Amino acid sequence: MGFKYYMPTEVFFGKNAIENNYEVLKEYGSKALIVTGARSSKMNGSLKDILNALDNLDANYMIFDKVEENPSLETIEEGAKLGKEFNCDYVIGIGGGSPIDASKAIAVMIKNPDITKDTIITTNKLKALDVIAVPTTSGTGTETTQYSIVTDHNNKTKLNLGQCIFPKIAFCDPSYTMRMEYDTTLNTAVDALSHLIEGYLNVNANLVTDTLVEKGIRLWGECITQLSTDKLGYEAREKLMMASTIGGAVIAQTGTSLPHGMGYALTYFKGLPHGLANGVLYREYLRSFKDQTRVNDIIGFMGLNNIDELEELLNNLINITVMISEEEIKEYTDGMWNNKGKLKNHPEEITYEELYNIYKSTFIL
Ligand code: NAP
Ligand code: ZN
Repeated sequence: MGFKYYMPTEVFFGKNAIENNYEVLKEYGSKALIVTGARSSKMNGSLKDILNALDNLDANYMIFDKVEENPSLETIEEGAKLGKEFNCDYVIGIGGGSPIDASKAIAVMIKNPDITKDTIITTNKLKALDVIAVPTTSGTGTETTQYSIVTDHNNKTKLNLGQCIFPKIAFCDPSYTMRMEYDTTLNTAVDALSHLIEGYLNVNANLVTDTLVEKGIRLWGECITQLSTDKLGYEAREKLMMASTIGGAVIAQTGTSLPHGMGYALTYFKGLPHGLANGVLYREYLRSFKDQTRVNDIIGFMGLNNIDELEELLNNLINITVMISEEEIKEYTDGMWNNKGKLKNHPEEITYEELYNIYKSTFIL
């Protein structure tokens, strides 16, 4: 068996990860552009920890705190403009996947001043300023991936920027997630699980990713009771962040697959948060496998006995109503059918009708 494993991010994991290790930032320069969302990083201590670190290092910084959920190329261009004017040396992304992905794209735009929001998605192999990631959700694993998922309003879709931007450093401190609202905790936890599962049910899965997935899903499975009752103490929050960071390292190798490709339309057109948009499709996605061997492995890793128990769990965690017409389902299926990058990761032959039926059986009973 031959395979490649590449995940170059230096990860500092645990309570006070920044306070205990901030000196590593020295080598990235003396002017940092901080990219974050409007509110949460000011409330959960992550922004304060970074500002303390930069003060201790006598470094200068500028804060861009306008990143919305599912960041648009327009916002990214605005952040890059600020970073260029400030002449920053590196970029620190603090928050959930949205600000960290935005920080990666901004780092590309600053490094390549002539690149615009249109050409950044059509030009290959662009370099980026160094990026430091401080995740405050336990879902995307973007701190250990090369991806940056952006919203392209011109093409009415979300897409991967297509550049390779692994953060140089990730400071993963589960304390930042302690006061996260239950909905966000659930949505992001489902995202982390979906990365682990799609990395396992994937043509690119290998010995290392399988090993990571097994451990990641076991950690996630140990939180099921807490996730179902909204009683999440530090230990569970820590396990979920580990599962998320591991999930990132997995999809950095394998890529994601059908639910991620199919979920983008549900986020763009129906406003479903990313994790839910994938998770809602999972029942039909898992049932669609002709060979259930690896699906059964996953059920075992989770500590469950059969697919019915997994379905029941997903039904309890994901409780949403979305109005979708058959016309819309056809449109979304067309989009997925043209997403060859995601389709090729799916390990079985799948037809247009089967894809259509995953949407249809999920939403139209
Ligand atoms: P998010 O969009 O970054 O944030 C969702 C909400 O959670 C925001 O309102 C945010 O508030 C809030 N929030 C963040 N941290 C919090 C905390 N500690 N306590 C309380 N609230 C908090 O959510 P996400 O699910 O982490 O990221 C989703 C994005 O990542 C999507 O665009 C998705 O496509 C992308 N993604 C990327 C990868 C990758 O590898 N690059 C993988 C999967 C998904 P503020 O706005 O105030 O910060
Ligand atoms: Zn995801």
